[in-house]
Amino acid sequence: MNLLTERWIPVMRQSGADLIAPYEISALDNPVLSINASRADFNGAIIQFLIGLLQTVLPDLKRKHWRQWQQVPPSSDELKKIFMPLEIAFNFDSDGARFMQDYNLLEGDKKSVSALFIDQPGEQTLELNTDHFVKRDSIKQICFHCSAIALFTLQINAPSGGAGHRTSVRGGGPLTTLIVSDTEESKLLWNMLWLNVIPAIDFKALTGNETLEISELKDVFPWLAPTRTSEKNSGATYINQNAHPFQMYWCMPRRIQLDFANTTQGECHVCGNANRQLVQHYITKNYGVNYLGSWQHLLSPHRKDKDAQYIPLHPQPGGIGYKYWQAIALNDSRAKVVRAQQENLKTTMKIWSFGYDMDNMKARCWYESTMPSYYIKPEILKAFESLTTQYIDSAIQILKYLYFSLKETKAHIPTTEANFWHQTETIFYQILNETVQILSQNASADVNNIKQTWLIHLQKKALLIFDTYTEVMHAELLQLQHLAQARKGLRKNLYGPKIRKSLALDEKEVKNA
Ligand SMILES: [Zn+2]
Repeated sequence: MNLLTERWIPVMRQSGADLIAPYEISALDNPVLSINASRADFNGAIIQFLIGLLQTVLPDLKRKHWRQWQQVPPSSDELKKIFMPLEIAFNFDSDGARFMQDYNLLEGDKKSVSALFIDQPGEQTLELNTDHFVKRDSIKQICFHCSAIALFTLQINAPSGGAGHRTSVRGGGPLTTLIVSDTEESKLLWNMLWLNVIPAIDFKALTGNETLEISELKDVFPWLAPTRTSEKNSGATYINQNAHPFQMYWCMPRRIQLDFANTTQGECHVCGNANRQLVQHYITKNYGVNYLGSWQHLLSPHRKDKDAQYIPLHPQPGGIGYKYWQAIALNDSRAKVVRAQQENLKTTMKIWSFGYDMDNMKARCWYESTMPSYYIKPEILKAFESLTTQYIDSAIQILKYLYFSLKETKAHIPTTEANFWHQTETIFYQILNETVQILSQNASADVNNIKQTWLIHLQKKALLIFDTYTEVMHAELLQLQHLAQARKGLRKNLYGPKIRKSLALDEKEVKNA
């Protein structure tokens, strides 16, 4: 099976579910609407596979060419012709180099294919018998299509997996942010993918070694050569000098070989399709490629640490809420693709964010969210940044007040924070939108009314959550007087001068309705 010619990608076409080969993504006849895998992490991985493939085959993409294909997508024949020079890197089970698998024959631990899945209980979880949430060994046999996606998903998200089991180029479970547009003409998969492929001029100074030639395929696809292993004290480390920048799309931190010699037949435990060849095991060995150094991925937001190294952001408990909106959509931290398309297209779009929240090697949760993306004119950027900081800081402050008052009444539960962010999210994005509109007309416009609306909303939601939690959760435990006091304290904070100051509103309180 070759992943450039095989029809292995589950999609939704205008006529319904189907499988396509990568070169068919832009088909005009019965167009492809979306990826349609059976798991959310598979959808996220396949999208990145296709974006990475397009970006890799068009390393010198010009803006003019980008616009042409935005207006008129390439034909399947055209795409096939462009993809085929990479055919050798996408063999999956043939003799010789295999996609995302170690170049040399491995002798190592034999594992069940279930361990390829990040949310399946690991060995330690099984030993401790703590796999309450994900049923143990629910995936024992998978078809070649699903094993290719599982392998790719693991390599690009690879969490720490014990001694010498290396993490992905973005660490374990990175946050990926993609530009999406919701206008009618860009409802097709092609449009969404193409928005996340950017002209070469937009990614100057990438990490990795830019002097390496992309035609040296082994520098882009590490499975085409013996693995640069990273045993302790061997001194053999894989700093980014050894890799072409586009290896960010094709990182291979784990040394893995699927066992194609001992397959079984039956039903694939992931897609449910009957198949004569199902993979049950793989062999793995530690000390694979160790991606040291500063790696900046085009599809992820990064912060800079004190040594000016790029640190990719990761989803945190509670989800990808508006608390992270600035980091994802506005600040220098945003992904290069997001920044490039905001500046090139100068229009309102959306950002789709997703990723695993990892607790070391254990997946706590898979998160996804969609948030607005704006082009902010340079002349209003400073004012806009300062306002969004005030909006978010005031929400953080009010959440603190709520937290302490709930702690005091013993009514705090772990989901309180997520609930607060969720309940205030719709209004936040409305406020944000209004702010952009007003400032775009007049950079020094008075936005006190917007701030006031935001504050009143936060105050009401905080009191509502307090009342719900104290009444429903722990009513029988509370002494009424104690409860009344805690509520009074919360109100005092919510309507006090400090919170108004955080929004740069004047001290004079507008009594709440
Ligand atoms: Zn399958």
